Amino acid sequence: MADEIVTRFAPSPTGHLHLGHAYSALFAAAAARRGGGRFLLRIEDIDASRARSEFERAILEDLAWLGLEWETPVRRQSEHMADYERAVGRLKALGVVYPCFCTRTGIRAEIERSPGAPHGPDGPLYPGTCKRLDDGERNARVDAGESFALRLDSDRAARIIGARGGPVAWTDVEAGERPIDTASHGDVVIARKEVPTSYHLAVTVDDALQGVTLVTRGLDLMPATHVHRLLRALLDLPEPRYHHHQLITDDAGRRLATRNRATALRTLRERGAAPGDIRKMVGLGAS
Ligand code: GLU
Repeated sequence: MADEIVTRFAPSPTGHLHLGHAYSALFAAAAARRGGGRFLLRIEDIDASRARSEFERAILEDLAWLGLEWETPVRRQSEHMADYERAVGRLKALGVVYPCFCTRTGIRAEIERSPGAPHGPDGPLYPGTCKRLDDGERNARVDAGESFALRLDSDRAARIIGARGGPVAWTDVEAGERPIDTASHGDVVIARKEVPTSYHLAVTVDDALQGVTLVTRGLDLMPATHVHRLLRALLDLPEPRYHHHQLITDDAGRRLATRNRATALRTLRERGAAPGDIRKMVGLGAS
């Protein structure tokens, strides 16, 4: 059915779920249920150094305890590298990615040297060091076996989309139409040095391959949607709708995050909370 609602919850198995995750998962499942649609679960485990199978097991257990049901098999990103490599191949063919040999330390030093460097929602933007390399040096470094990430050439990507006549915007269910800001994130990483993909690429490819029609996630990820919409346009992937939801905060008004020691759902459960209590704690009714 063309306009069937398909939503997903896409946690990274790098820690235990907390109330913020519970809200996000319940929100996605409710949006699917209201529309008589489908709810999917995806495990975002491309970061092999941080993803752990015990966290994945705990995530499935916590979500089932909350009363959620999802379709199987669950898509695990680490098992689909070939899909991301294909997408990278298409971006290469369009000429919108370039190798970046920089290290984190090198990037930080370069940014410190240029005080007026542009900032994006996640901090300073990549200063374009490797974009300015001439072809000779670039090829020599690749040939010498130096490791590199691939970055999106956001200027070139914007020019290509402009020449095609768009798209120019994406739609959030609450915030309405948002003009695509192709410069907001600068030249993001498309494939990391050690993994042939990145968060931005994997999420874009997967949402499309899984037929997700309504991408729901927290407002903290709203700025990233500019990048995802641009990637979809470059890869000729269909456009979903987006619904960025409020973030659950702690008593001090801080966004819940594992690094802020947000209490894990399983700890609340051990202390006697029932699934209905969790719903209430995140401001959702008993349904
Ligand atoms: N895996 C991401 C996270 O844990 C969410 C991805 C998304 O919803 O786009 O925050």
